[in-house]
Amino acid sequence: MLEICGKIVGPGEKLKCELGPEGYPMPATLICGSRPGKTLVVTAQIHSGEYAGTPAVIRLARETDPGKLCGNLILFHLVNVTGFFEGINAYIPEDHGNLNGCYPGGEESVSGRIAAFFVREILPHADALLDLHGGGMNETLAPCLFFPGKDRAVREASLAMAAFTDIPDCIVSHSVLGEVGYAGNVMGIPSLLLERGYGGLNRKEWADAYFWDLRRILIGLGMTEGEEDPVCAKRIYDHAVYLEAEENGLWYPEVETGRHLMPGDLLGRTEDLWGSPLREYRATAAGTVQYYRSAMNAVKGHNLVTYVLDSCNGDGLEY
Ligand SMILES: [Zn+2]
Repeated sequence: MLEICGKIVGPGEKLKCELGPEGYPMPATLICGSRPGKTLVVTAQIHSGEYAGTPAVIRLARETDPGKLCGNLILFHLVNVTGFFEGINAYIPEDHGNLNGCYPGGEESVSGRIAAFFVREILPHADALLDLHGGGMNETLAPCLFFPGKDRAVREASLAMAAFTDIPDCIVSHSVLGEVGYAGNVMGIPSLLLERGYGGLNRKEWADAYFWDLRRILIGLGMTEGEEDPVCAKRIYDHAVYLEAEENGLWYPEVETGRHLMPGDLLGRTEDLWGSPLREYRATAAGTVQYYRSAMNAVKGHNLVTYVLDSCNGDGLEY
């Protein structure tokens, strides 16, 4: 039996419902398998506009047969509902909060109340967590995932799930402020933050790829039976550079995803609104571009380019 926020789902049952803190209902599906097993929580669009996870989670919710499931699925189809319908990039529009940066939350804001809801009501049920993202409306991105790195057992259990995805680049995260960071690095729940798609685009192939990632992870966790399709080899990165804009301006990137960089290579340049040069941004270490801002507006403190570092590629673990 699965009991979440007063909703009771018996063995072999599936419930469509809305869950969330008071005044913020989020579309969800709860599935209780007919046999015991792990409880997997999946969230999509904690950042609105990162679309690909939502159709994948909806498809998983519709196609999963509770009679063939071991354990439980707690599926949130779309977390940042208000941002989604307002067409906002990423943040909760009520308070401009970032659900990947406000954990463990609190009662002072809508984003804080959503984070606190997950910490209090949802994550304690989870044996594993998957949080589906993509490059935002302003970004171009090559598929990658982030796994918690603070605790070795959690890291390895998270990477064991990553092995079932068709995502090549796996980057460690020591954050404790996001959903996956808090779940993995504070609560000790094996977790992945996955990134597919970009640019505010709604492409079927990205959603399909996410759906098959989810299906393979369910097989990997022993929650369902099925064929294990082959997936791509993995690269493990223990360090990445998250370059931020030093000031507002016009941004002209000079990179593409997957491009290899040497120290000193030009990443992009900024100008003021009259076209005078402001700054050149250059690589400080050898690495490979994972994602970058493809919009024109450089915003002080916001990401311009993220690249994973060669020198720390791999830790001896094989997947
Ligand atoms: Zn995101």
